[in-house]
Amino acid sequence: MVNRNSQGGKSGKAAEIVTLTPRDIEILRWVQDGKTNDEIGDLLARSKWTAKYHLKNIMQKMGVTTRAQAVSQAIGMGALPPIDPYIDDVDESSMRIGIVGGGRGGSAVLSLFKDNPLLKVEWIADRDPSADGLLMAMELHIPTAEDYRIFLKKEIDVVINLTDSETVAEDLRNKLPLKTEIMGGSSAKIMWQLFDERRKRVEERERVLKEHEALYHLGLLIESIDSIKDAGYAIVDYATKLTGTPAGSIALYDEENGNMKLIAVKGFGASLKKMERWEIREGGLTHDVLNREGPLYIHDIRETENPNPLLLKEGVKSLLASPLTVEGRIIGVLYVNDFKKRRFRAEDVSLFSLLTIYAGLTLERVRTLEETRLLSITDGLTGLYNQRYLMEQMQKEIQRSARHKHKLAVIMFDIDYFKKYNDTYGHLEGNRVLKVISGILKKNSRVTDTVGRFGGEEFCVIMPQISKEGAKAFAQRVLKEIEEHPMPNRVVTMSGGISSFPKDGKSHLDLLQKADELLYVAKKKGRNCIIGS
Ligand code: GH3
Ligand code: MG
Ligand code: MG
Repeated sequence: MVNRNSQGGKSGKAAEIVTLTPRDIEILRWVQDGKTNDEIGDLLARSKWTAKYHLKNIMQKMGVTTRAQAVSQAIGMGALPPIDPYIDDVDESSMRIGIVGGGRGGSAVLSLFKDNPLLKVEWIADRDPSADGLLMAMELHIPTAEDYRIFLKKEIDVVINLTDSETVAEDLRNKLPLKTEIMGGSSAKIMWQLFDERRKRVEERERVLKEHEALYHLGLLIESIDSIKDAGYAIVDYATKLTGTPAGSIALYDEENGNMKLIAVKGFGASLKKMERWEIREGGLTHDVLNREGPLYIHDIRETENPNPLLLKEGVKSLLASPLTVEGRIIGVLYVNDFKKRRFRAEDVSLFSLLTIYAGLTLERVRTLEETRLLSITDGLTGLYNQRYLMEQMQKEIQRSARHKHKLAVIMFDIDYFKKYNDTYGHLEGNRVLKVISGILKKNSRVTDTVGRFGGEEFCVIMPQISKEGAKAFAQRVLKEIEEHPMPNRVVTMSGGISSFPKDGKSHLDLLQKADELLYVAKKKGRNCIIGS
């Protein structure tokens, strides 16, 4: 029977005794010999299930989860001979090493040695059976023990003492033969430091790799995005994830109005989300960011001269902000924020800068795309939708209304005696009238309505979920406003005809024809009026 006195394990339980029965040891030896459950079952004159059951009990008793760990620990307990199953593979000229101290240092040394065929770790010992290095050794089939002394009989070239203990150093000097080299104290520490450095470098490389992968995925994602809003959200989301911050936003510089337009926000309360635009305050945060080349980082905004009141209200303490530029032109600002004080690491800042290059290019590309799209569906003079878009929209809205069993109204307007107006005051004056009327139509419509210029001096409004009566009220309001509007020269009036879905037809052409017919009736009736039936 073998006892193992386990102290200071991860569970923090009081001392516990593991007792291996002769049969346990016998089974473990078979495992050590590489026998399968089937073979062990045969040796026990039972089924493989019985073998499996016994093994499970043994592993549970030993507090381990794999067969390799059980064997390794049994070797450490002295229950099994310390025979390495891979001894045959090892080059005779390799250096045999023992390690005392299996903590962080032990695992660092092990991970460095494990792939080197010339350095062979024969054993590793630590008082704490759950020390990192010990667990790692078990996985590598390297014998482990809580007491290094059981290994000292074995011939070895170097013992690395990673403990701080003078007693251990003294004991090793006394017990090991002279030809065994002992590496301990400062020299072992130096080695450990070097390994630690190397580990950090490897970790750093892995981190950079991960970040580049994230940027690559962002690249793929934003390539398929075709709206400014979606691009904004994707960029803010990645920026916060890459810098490990809980909040962020992106705002574009509006050259026309000279202010900032918020396009995406993450992790903030309602007050910031509601804000659509803000002026650039001289000496304020945005002003500061826009006037610099690289990113600005603030670890506590309360310590800055002119803290942004809105950010203070939101509880923001630290931030990283960078202007977004395209070919030297500033197009906006990307921010990430934290609600606690923090110093951003140099890697975070450089990654953030890299991201802003992506962000700038993407937003510019999407903006051009949106502009081109808008140009292709709007009318240059009035800014209203053009006939092509009106027709498409009408078909879509009719389908939607049919699906939801909603009404839909279509109004056709035509300016009265407009030829005469043009002949009298000239086309430029006429154009001004077209613009004024477009503004009145837009102002009186709902966001769900589509207002377009059908052609010449004809306008069309599509009104989903509106009855003929509702549309008539809207049209009369518009007519009244046009009549009362101080036009550049004289009073201008307009006439209109209304059709509605599904009463007047099921296709957009039916509806347009009906509205046009009724418009003609309005003209006949003396103009400046609306006819709905
Ligand atoms: P009615 O009351 O019967 O509609 O008479 P009208 O003179 O408005 O009708 P008509 O269709 O004979 O004339 C339409 C005029 O609209 C012709 C053209 O001078 C004017 N027009 C069409 N497009 C434009 C434009 O882009 N700018 C200007 N200034 N005038 C336009
Ligand atoms: Mg006309
Ligand atoms: Mg006309």
